[in-house]
Amino acid sequence: MSHAASPVLVIHGGAGVIKREMSPAKEKAVRAALTRALQNGYAQLKAGKTAVDAVTTAITVLEDDANFNAGKGSVFTHDGKNELDAAIMDGSTLAAGSVAGVHRVKNPILLARAVMEKSQHVMLVGDGAEEFARSVGIELVDPSYFHTEERWQQLQKALKEDAEHSRHSDVETAKHFGTVGAVALDAQGHLAAGTSTGGMNDKRWGRVGDSPIIGAGTYANDGCAVSGTGWGEYYIRTVAAHEICMRVTQMRVPLQRAAAEVINQEIPSMGGNGGAIAVDDEGHITMPFNTDGMYRGWIGADGVPHVALYGDENDGTAEPLPATSSSID
Ligand code: ASP
Repeated sequence: MSHAASPVLVIHGGAGVIKREMSPAKEKAVRAALTRALQNGYAQLKAGKTAVDAVTTAITVLEDDANFNAGKGSVFTHDGKNELDAAIMDGSTLAAGSVAGVHRVKNPILLARAVMEKSQHVMLVGDGAEEFARSVGIELVDPSYFHTEERWQQLQKALKEDAEHSRHSDVETAKHFGTVGAVALDAQGHLAAGTSTGGMNDKRWGRVGDSPIIGAGTYANDGCAVSGTGWGEYYIRTVAAHEICMRVTQMRVPLQRAAAEVINQEIPSMGGNGGAIAVDDEGHITMPFNTDGMYRGWIGADGVPHVALYGDENDGTAEPLPATSSSID
């Protein structure tokens, strides 16, 4: 339901094996990028812009930062290429746009938004998506722009493991995420969700994960917005983001419980792993994950960015708050 609301923005930078042995320099850079994404996205909301604007702004900051598996910093495919996926959804209209398997688009979230706003379609893939990008003036870069040494070494490690085990090790690959996402509630009471990713390290055969699939990794309606990160095949099979939102808007399950049921029960019971961020139309937020950690953050009425990386770290939602433990309104 749309009504005047106190804006809130929640972001993630991927779930997975996130341990305290991370170098201090890397940790500082990750926290700084998450903080910047929150501040820039929230500035949009404070200026009266839409949830779609806030989500786009926050994700663009993270796509431009090589510490995340989206835009610059994306993982490599088995063949040593970068194939990027992204999606965005406007909960107030159910309009959505997504792109998959692009390798020249600097900011895939901007192309997903253009698909939503400037085409009659919802999902474009590969060369066609890039032809559309050109036609609407979205920035294209040489594929070498996406090459980072850290991701290249991650691929070399996976290839070595593939060779040693003489088969592709999905479980090994599923330890490394880093996808980025954002969900927002704007002052009009409208919700939006967006997700951007390089997918999974060492992916093959044009594999596409959940991030660009509306309902799986990304979904928003008039009562709930969700962005997921994790082992995409499981998010597709459980239609995870849509599943959470249906529990909230159709079954009237509180947001925190709805998200926990899907992320912490349904997905792990099938053998998958990962996390998600979600917000409802009353500004309740939740950030569940079943991995060691998840890069995450949120910003609400007081304009203070809250950032956390590790599983045992207080992300600011654990303190007693007026409505529920996950409420910030
Ligand atoms: N969910 C993404 C995918 O499967 C990966 C991630 O979240 O990092 O493509």
